[in-house]
Amino acid sequence: MEPVLTLTDLETWSFSGTALAVLGHPIKHSISPPMHNAALEEMEQTDSRFKDWRYFRFDIPPVELSAALPRLHAAGFEGLNLTVPHKVLAFDQIENVDAAVRPIGAVNTLKRTPTGWHGFNTDGYGLATAVAEDLGIELADTPIILLGAGGAARGAAVECLTQRCASLHISNRTASNRDALLADLAPISNGIPITGFAPAQPPRDLPANALVINATSAGLKPEDPLPIDLNQLPLPRGVFDMIYNPAETKLLAVAKSLGLPVSNGLGMLIHQGVRSLEIWSEASVPVAAMHTAVTSA
Ligand code: NDP
Repeated sequence: MEPVLTLTDLETWSFSGTALAVLGHPIKHSISPPMHNAALEEMEQTDSRFKDWRYFRFDIPPVELSAALPRLHAAGFEGLNLTVPHKVLAFDQIENVDAAVRPIGAVNTLKRTPTGWHGFNTDGYGLATAVAEDLGIELADTPIILLGAGGAARGAAVECLTQRCASLHISNRTASNRDALLADLAPISNGIPITGFAPAQPPRDLPANALVINATSAGLKPEDPLPIDLNQLPLPRGVFDMIYNPAETKLLAVAKSLGLPVSNGLGMLIHQGVRSLEIWSEASVPVAAMHTAVTSA
């Protein structure tokens, strides 16, 4: 496992290969380094361009992000991943963002330009690919019940609208955060019905056969409440939980007891990583190697 680095380590940075890294706080539980390094090792076997590519991890508290980004650029880093709590913070601190990312307001992938960083968000791609692979459901034409209004939910909501879901129904614990997301989505709805509701009071007219996506962090800890009572919803078509550790949240356990197809967020983690590595390397990426590395990590 790569050691946990800090900003101080950049003062004596001497790595001569192509460096990539994930920045987060905390970062010690991130499985992105073994996932990307497994892919890079395999890519090197068939393409000498990837000799000496390596993926590091940095513990960067939020107050250090504005110093870290230019210093990593000056040190020659080719690409960065951003995880909690940097995805939204970095949005206003980089040179440019992909047009598709603007309504999300959060970036998880930065690619080096000669003068700064260009931002992308690969979480939506990861979600759509994992939902199709694990549940056999396409976001297009599917009614979506989305739980959460944080960074991950924003990426999911924009992806659902981009793929032209049938309708989007957003529930969140804090009404003001939900309303802020609804307001940001309104200009890009393109006629797709979008509604919001309180998790304790799902409206009666929610659609049946919806895909429920949990994009809250409720479920990370054993004492967390359920993000929604599935018994209060018309029978959904499947439940996708972005959380992958624990592998089965309480929400997924309830969904299984109702006989619903379920998936955790492992596939999403892998596919957002695949897309990031494609962006940096401009090459095709060995998904199976990343899958094996993640499962064993
Ligand atoms: P944020 O901190 O931006 O958002 C957290 C969301 O969870 C908010 O909507 C918040 O609601 C809600 N929430 C937090 N605690 C509770 C609770 N006890 N009960 C109900 N709702 C709660 O986090 P992110 O959006 O970045 O991440 C959300 C989840 O998605 C995390 O578990 C993360 O690990 C996972 N994730 C997984 C990925 C993958 O690849 N599988 C990728 C990205 C994220 P409120 O507005 O009320 O505070």
